[in-house]
Amino acid sequence: MRIARFSIDGNVAFGAVEGEKQDELVLDIIKGIPFAEHELSGTKVPLSKVRLLPPVLPSKVVAFGRNYAEHTRELGHEVPEAPFAFLKPSTSVVGTGDDIHYPPFSRELHHEGELAIVIGRMCREVPRERVRDVIFGYTCANDVTARDVQRREKQWARAKGFDTACPLGPWVETDLDLARANDLTLQLTVNGEQRQLGRTSEMIHPIEDLVVTISEAMTLLPGDVILTGTPAGVGPLNVGDEVAVTIEGIGTLTNKVVKRG
Ligand code: ZN
Repeated sequence: MRIARFSIDGNVAFGAVEGEKQDELVLDIIKGIPFAEHELSGTKVPLSKVRLLPPVLPSKVVAFGRNYAEHTRELGHEVPEAPFAFLKPSTSVVGTGDDIHYPPFSRELHHEGELAIVIGRMCREVPRERVRDVIFGYTCANDVTARDVQRREKQWARAKGFDTACPLGPWVETDLDLARANDLTLQLTVNGEQRQLGRTSEMIHPIEDLVVTISEAMTLLPGDVILTGTPAGVGPLNVGDEVAVTIEGIGTLTNKVVKRG
């Protein structure tokens, strides 16, 4: 099931996305919240009539770095022995169709298309064989990065944590099993031109490793998001650009880069 979060007439709701053609999609409004007991209401609204919101409101976004060998080399780094993580704040999250604000303290904004894992239940110290039970689903992410600031500053709170630095969406796909999620095509385009193309099977540490590693350190809550790293091909974003992340079996996350007003 594809579960979207949206606003309609000033109210926020979750809905199950039905249909195949982009301009014919409808939302079946969900009674309750998707992480707990819920049911479809049968009340349907065309997707074109609502504003999609970030599909979840995470308490935190944990992002893994250097998880694709070719990308690690393109930035001139060694592949780390163990997966390493950093945090993006909840305030950096925006949804599909929202603007990315070019931060005034950077001159080198980069895109990083990534598969995002959405956690479905509170968990800690998740054993490998239970990882599938704590995952709610998957969505597309753009780990937008002020690359010049990242190079200058040891901690990446500013470089990767500014407002709008974490587009997520368009919705959460809940029907992918682990084997499939670990083998999806990921493509990123800027103004329709392909910049990144990879497969999640190229990840050095698959989804299971990432959930085990981070849950050893911290409690994960329903709606928390884990970014799994980006394939090669990262590059600049300029004001006016439209950037789109498409992941096979999930959908397309599209955002425009604007000057912060
Ligand atoms: Zn990244």
